[in-house]
Amino acid sequence: LITLSGIVKQYGNTRILDGLDLTIPAGQKVALIGPSGSGKSTVLRLIKGLESFSAGTLTIDGVSLDPGAKRRTFFPPRQAIKPVTGMVFQHFNLFPHLTVEQNITEAPQRVLKIPAAEAKARARHYLELVGMAHKAQAWPATLSGGQKQRVAIARALAMQPRIMLFDEVTSALDPELVGEVLNVIRELAHQQKMTLLLVTHEMNFARDVADRVIFMEQGKIIDDGTPHALLIAPRHPRTQQFLNLVR
Ligand code: ATP
Ligand code: MG
Repeated sequence: LITLSGIVKQYGNTRILDGLDLTIPAGQKVALIGPSGSGKSTVLRLIKGLESFSAGTLTIDGVSLDPGAKRRTFFPPRQAIKPVTGMVFQHFNLFPHLTVEQNITEAPQRVLKIPAAEAKARARHYLELVGMAHKAQAWPATLSGGQKQRVAIARALAMQPRIMLFDEVTSALDPELVGEVLNVIRELAHQQKMTLLLVTHEMNFARDVADRVIFMEQGKIIDDGTPHALLIAPRHPRTQQFLNLVR
């Protein structure tokens, strides 16, 4: 369960998130949509623990993060358990000096202290899941954008997070490579119990994978409901306007 309550985030005097309230039950698949600059990435980065905030509370699986705190990952106090959230970004940031397999085994070994053989087995499993097992020994530079992004997804999954965050993972890809990455996420959404929060401009994709769609504008949630209620028969005038622009 993720709960954001009265979250205020500001840069200087500008309020980026203006008292944001949001509760996401475990296992829910949520698509976050909205215009550029509305605060979508900021919400994901907050949940990942990459951002501080100035007021409100953020609780993930019973663990609260204080305003002002800035931690890379969530750990229950003084207990070294595995990070709860995994995130994939728009620009695949694979380590260029590591092979595909090493990219995936690195964090489970270093952070979760998993033995090398087990980390390799895990890497194989997730590479198969994203259809990249045949590239385990390849260098990132030799992969297409879609392949890199699928490896980035496998890398996040290998930490076995309970929450996966996807921030416009296809928007830097050539159009013909978008489908393969969306298919991987679609499969994940349908098969995995994990909570999924994704920012996307692909409305058909959002409709396919999400149980819930949230429309944000200027740091606020304007509209929130089922994919049908928001994307097919939107009632809120701002949601309608936005959809007309992106379609
Ligand atoms: P996009 O669809 O373009 O990715 P977004 O909805 O993800 O937009 P955010 O990246 O969350 O928007 O940014 C929200 C606002 O916060 C924007 O107005 C942005 O300019 C501002 N912002 C983000 N990061 C910083 C920063 N480090 N310093 C100052 N302002 C920032
Ligand atoms: Mg963004």
